[in-house]
Amino acid sequence: MAFDYDLFVIGGGSGGVRAARVAAAEGAKVGLAEESRMGGTCVIRGCVPKKLMVFASSYREVFGDAQSYGWELTTGEFDWPKFRGKLEAELTRLENVYQSLLNGSGVTWYGERAVLEDAHTVRLADGQSFTAKHILVATGGRPFVPKDIPSSAHIITSNEIFHLDALPKSILIVGGGYIACEFAGILNGLGVEVTQFYRGAQVLRGFDDEARGLVATQMVERGVKLHTGTNIVEIEEREGGVWVKATDGSHRVYDKVMFATGRVPNSNGLGLEELGIKLGRNGAVEVDAYSQTAVPSVCAIGDVTDRVNLTPVAIREGMAFVETVFKNNPTAPDHDLIPSAVFTQPELGTVGLSEEEAREQEPVDIYCSSFKAMQQGFAGREDRVLMKLVVSQASGKVLGCHIVAPQAGEMIQLAGIAVKMGATKEDFDRTVAVHPTMAEELVTMKAPVRST
Ligand code: NDP
Repeated sequence: MAFDYDLFVIGGGSGGVRAARVAAAEGAKVGLAEESRMGGTCVIRGCVPKKLMVFASSYREVFGDAQSYGWELTTGEFDWPKFRGKLEAELTRLENVYQSLLNGSGVTWYGERAVLEDAHTVRLADGQSFTAKHILVATGGRPFVPKDIPSSAHIITSNEIFHLDALPKSILIVGGGYIACEFAGILNGLGVEVTQFYRGAQVLRGFDDEARGLVATQMVERGVKLHTGTNIVEIEEREGGVWVKATDGSHRVYDKVMFATGRVPNSNGLGLEELGIKLGRNGAVEVDAYSQTAVPSVCAIGDVTDRVNLTPVAIREGMAFVETVFKNNPTAPDHDLIPSAVFTQPELGTVGLSEEEAREQEPVDIYCSSFKAMQQGFAGREDRVLMKLVVSQASGKVLGCHIVAPQAGEMIQLAGIAVKMGATKEDFDRTVAVHPTMAEELVTMKAPVRST
């Protein structure tokens, strides 16, 4: 049977665009549909604008530190509309880059929502239908807001935060994950009064306890009013803002409330279940190790599968899909030892097992160093840096590396190579220190602080 396309990709985010381009480079005839802006969550309403806001917010401390270093400065106010205009222009530039990359690769793309009609047919919102030998679902995810939360212009998610007309004077952020903690730091740095409610005992659940404890302490020291063990019991629009009553009995009006209570896969209404494709927890598309669904012609990658919800992972999954389907080289994406960073202030970089996970698995030695970094210490700040290695007693292998420090994201990318290669503590020790740096501590920690 002749198909209109060899591959039709639904979703123009990082994973979908990469898969489409690489398949086209293999000679496949590829179509792609994106209902919103090309680039997806990462480029348009996630990693990229978030990181630019991290940069914008970090200047407050830089100005303060510069004065401690002898600079005479007069600093003005942060101009949100000016920044937002530049941000929007940058996102439009990147959107155009993504479109050009698709055009240059020979991918035909449609600015329309697409749904599956059958195992080999997609239908666009404008009524066009196309057949394809393979269909790749790469529709990503969207913010989840707990049910019973009223709809209000003052109640927002990370989708809306980049488009506000003005920065609020006060905001309540609900949640203790990546997005909640990153935006608590960003908005605090931009001068917003930030309150954060987290229902558990400590934010950043799943990360190394010592590392997340230090991040939380420094968020509070920087001015975030963090309330752990706290959630909302009543919420309503009031006095031009949002009135919130908390589980601890306190109540007040905030200009805005931001829910950063997780994300869910965008699998609704795509016609997947009608085809016999199973949706798991939260609507995640169930796939095998090769990203194939129960319908062999339909594969899925990225956040819609809710495996490891990170842009570079979606890209890897897209490339592995092309290897498998178009290069006759069955390749399962590797989800082991993925380094990642949380762009809190200070940043948290991590790869491998936390101390808590590792000691469940085997006896480990913990090497840990916490100190004031030279640059911030000289400026009179109390911030501490954490460098931590979790080492197998049996093999000497570094099972986990956790860094809390300015630029921890940059450091963990490189430490991640060593950990992925299976480096031992001895390999770290054989590496000469780069002096004076923060990261040199990773190769100079002599004795374990504890063995468990
Ligand atoms: P997370 O799953 O990381 O965090 C969700 C938070 O909301 C948790 O603290 C959770 O609490 C809390 N929560 C969930 N439901 C409720 C509820 N009903 N009431 C109160 N609190 C609730 O999600 P995020 O949205 O922060 O991020 C989504 C994903 O996006 C991340 O897991 C990550 O994969 C990715 N991401 C990565 C980034 C990076 O690499 N720097 C940046 C941003 C996102 P509890 O812990 O108790 O479950």
